[in-house]
Amino acid sequence: MAKKQFKAESKRLLDLLVNSVYTQREIFLRELISNASDAIDKMYYKALTDESLSFDKGNFFIKVTIDKANRILTVSDTGIGMTREELDDNLGIIAKSGSMLFKNENELKDGHEIIGQFGVGFYSAFMVADTVTVISKAFGSDEAFMWESKGVDGYTIKPSAKDSFGTDVIIKLKESTEDENFDEYLEQYRIRSIIKKYSDFISYPIKMDITESRLKEGSEKDYEEHTEEQIVNSMVPIWRRNKNELKQEDYENFYAEKHYGFDKPLRHIHISVEGAVSYNAILFIPENIPFDFYTKEYEKGLELYSSGVMIMNKCAELLPDYFSFVKGMVDSEDLSLNISREMLQHDRQLNLIAKNIKTKIKNELDTLLKNEREKYEGFYKSFGRQLKYGLYGEYGRNKEDLQDLLLFYSSTEKKMVTFAEYVSRMPEEQKYIYYATGESNERIEKLPQTELVADKGYEILYFTDDVDEFVIKMLHTYKEKEFKSVAGGDLGIETEEKESSDADDEKQKALFTKMKDFLTGKVSDVRASKRLKKHPVCLSSEGELSIEMEKILKTLPTNQDVKANKVLEINTNHEVFSSLKEAAENDPEKLKLYTDLLYNQALLIEGLPVNDPVDFTNNICKIMK
Ligand code: ADP
Repeated sequence: MAKKQFKAESKRLLDLLVNSVYTQREIFLRELISNASDAIDKMYYKALTDESLSFDKGNFFIKVTIDKANRILTVSDTGIGMTREELDDNLGIIAKSGSMLFKNENELKDGHEIIGQFGVGFYSAFMVADTVTVISKAFGSDEAFMWESKGVDGYTIKPSAKDSFGTDVIIKLKESTEDENFDEYLEQYRIRSIIKKYSDFISYPIKMDITESRLKEGSEKDYEEHTEEQIVNSMVPIWRRNKNELKQEDYENFYAEKHYGFDKPLRHIHISVEGAVSYNAILFIPENIPFDFYTKEYEKGLELYSSGVMIMNKCAELLPDYFSFVKGMVDSEDLSLNISREMLQHDRQLNLIAKNIKTKIKNELDTLLKNEREKYEGFYKSFGRQLKYGLYGEYGRNKEDLQDLLLFYSSTEKKMVTFAEYVSRMPEEQKYIYYATGESNERIEKLPQTELVADKGYEILYFTDDVDEFVIKMLHTYKEKEFKSVAGGDLGIETEEKESSDADDEKQKALFTKMKDFLTGKVSDVRASKRLKKHPVCLSSEGELSIEMEKILKTLPTNQDVKANKVLEINTNHEVFSSLKEAAENDPEKLKLYTDLLYNQALLIEGLPVNDPVDFTNNICKIMK
């Protein structure tokens, strides 16, 4: 059976293209400028292969002209132009890409990348145009032709006139309606900013006639309009330039121009990779926290360019959440873009780039930590919390990457230290990495629970961020050393037991049982403390959930019912203990009062509210009498 060819309903196809492919109308200009750049590139390639031709870069440019009165926007180029047949083929057949063909025929792979590939970009002009007119003269021909279309009902081609080879794409803009504005494409500043946004690094000059108000010569207050042809684009992107030629200042200017931040970047990373996926990237680690960084509004991501043309403003896939503070851009020729060039076809190349970038950022931070500690600590003040979230998130799968970037305040060093530094100082007999949690370093310093560990001369890490203890639970160990809260169960420290008779032990046991009964529902046990030296009481916790964690979880809308297993610890060497013993023997009412007071004191030290403040103060008055 003879195969039948598919037929396409061109009108419908065009309609689809114009209305469904692109999310942003302004990209029509990006597409036309990319085509113009391709057309000049083709001249460049011709000159490469044909010795009789010389390619003088100075003669090649793109010009965008605005004719406000007639609602016309024109994109002209001095490129290779199109013959009558090419106009018919390339602009008459949807999805036919002369540029793709050219690339294949000339086996182009290197350097100058031709942008076109799908054969649809041109039609995006119909998103804003009533009529599109293309006047073109092919290189080497002395005839020019005019292609014209209103979109839906086809096109015409007829002979025309044009001085030099190249192409003018003339767009007669649609009339604005109540809810659609096309007039914006007649404004210089608007067109200029669209060019800057998407086509800043097109490698040929994009010219515009720019009108500015200037002081009249000799006058101090009278202005006059002055029109001048200017090159709007930067052309050579900084990331394609040789690293050795670039100064710190160049990166800082780029950072400011791109509005990555108002600060100066703390660090830049310039990457040029040639390989399975080739790409250039410039990344910045900012100095200051963006004002919205720790809010839901903050969007992470890097700018993504394909062969110098901007594709995406914020490509989130390029950065892991824990490095969301990184700013910058990536440019690659190896991305498979979808038809609108607003998204990627599949993520293989992108994943490779993202993985690579992640490692580079981590290495940069490692180096900063190693060589410029003070700068790193500044960075850590701003973004350390993000690193901790990163370690805690995704079930801890990034812990290997992040654990050595963390810093905590040390009780003995009186400054921020890494886990590695801590472990390197541990005496041989020290079993655990100790930490204490609290609101601030000053408060932790005074916590009774730290007494034993501190007395032993061991270093304690201070946890003052909500997320700290959760991070540690996720890590569990560092270099095989387990983390241990100074307020947790067995501290692994030998203490000398006082000689005591069995009778004494029995009495003490009975006392603690009574006290525990008074505190039913509040603590799970009352015990003689091994960790207290000077203070009479403290609370400790048993099991996975610490008192600090309970506090944090209680502030969250979910998880309200969690409770840490609290233990009231009594310092049996403290004189208060004698009073307790005495009360136990002679005055049960007094024992209840003392128990209540001690428990509330322990709560206060822990930064927890007392159960009943009025009751508490009444009780204090009672013993003062
Ligand atoms: P693409 O650029 O993806 O190939 P387009 O629909 O934008 O698709 O353009 C179709 C074809 O028309 C291009 O491949 C190119 O051959 C031709 N073309 C478009 N604009 C120009 C131009 N300014 N100069 C020369 N040829 C052009």
